[in-house]
Amino acid sequence: MGKKSGERKGKKAPRKRNRVKKSSLYEAKEGRLERKRTPCPKCGAGVFMAEHENRMSCGKCGYTKWKK
Ligand SMILES: [Zn+2]
Repeated sequence: MGKKSGERKGKKAPRKRNRVKKSSLYEAKEGRLERKRTPCPKCGAGVFMAEHENRMSCGKCGYTKWKK
């Protein structure tokens, strides 16, 4: 009798969940976000404006820039 019978006791190889796919998704997402960000002209480059359907607004000073 060999030790091969031990395999039947349920000790299978540990599952390997690959997280590589997830991290690649995040990268694409961040790249998209950075492209859309527009700095507020009143607050400076450190403050970005929120993107809306037809306008952009600054959450800090309330400045709104309408899209044409
Ligand atoms: Zn602002």
